[in-house]
Amino acid sequence: MLAGLALAAAGPAVADPRGAVAPVLHLAGQARQGGTLIGRTAPGARLIVDGAEVGEASASGLFVIGLDRDSPREVRVSVTDVRTGRSSARTLAVAPGGFDIQRIDGLPPQQVRPQGEALLARIAAEAERKARGWASRVQTEDFAGGFSQPLSKYRLSGRFGGQRILNGEPMTPHFGADLAAPEGTPILAPAPGRVSFAETGLHYEGGLTMIDHGQGLVTAYLHQSRIRVREGDSVTRGQVIGAVGREGRATGPHLCWRMKWRDRRLDPMLLLGVRAPA
Ligand SMILES: [Zn+2]
Repeated sequence: MLAGLALAAAGPAVADPRGAVAPVLHLAGQARQGGTLIGRTAPGARLIVDGAEVGEASASGLFVIGLDRDSPREVRVSVTDVRTGRSSARTLAVAPGGFDIQRIDGLPPQQVRPQGEALLARIAAEAERKARGWASRVQTEDFAGGFSQPLSKYRLSGRFGGQRILNGEPMTPHFGADLAAPEGTPILAPAPGRVSFAETGLHYEGGLTMIDHGQGLVTAYLHQSRIRVREGDSVTRGQVIGAVGREGRATGPHLCWRMKWRDRRLDPMLLLGVRAPA
């Protein structure tokens, strides 16, 4: 199924009366709720999405834009060349995500409605450490060559964005893609990057690793039975970073693969095969 729009077109560069040329604005990827776009523009250009400043392009003009699960159906992306002051803009038609409802029963109650002072304090401390991992901002273009599958073989057992009903209770949506595979299956870095978090034994996630790929794009790997990297490590595409497990809130062995662009949660499956535009 091919949903959403594949974007490849470029905005033409138009000369203004003073002779400055508007910056190029090339985008690749799926304009769809939960989708990610990789763009190319002028080096260091300022990025504005729906009127909000969201950072600047890399030294070679590459950048990333993430579209929320609940993104509006139209999103305006504009770039401003800091040397000339000229801007280019595009309005994206964002396809709906088509999210499903996911019922999971038989979870231990402490995984759904945790209780007890000690456990709640532990969960809060873990949330703070995880927030630091997500907030990593390495200056790199490791995202530019695209993302490959983190497992060589799996069954997609839960899609991104589904409305979750756990033990009969409606919860926040599922912000990952669940890839079911036997315990111990090697997890491969889908793109190069810097490890920004690596811990075992977390209440919800079990073994959790995060990788920063640059421009605010961070991926995460949950429920691992074993972790093979440490915070601060640089990883290459295809490097084994850990192993599939069922630690934390899981009913069977699987990799919950997650991704964020700045504070937005994205569907990593929509980024597979997308490369920076030439
Ligand atoms: Zn999951």
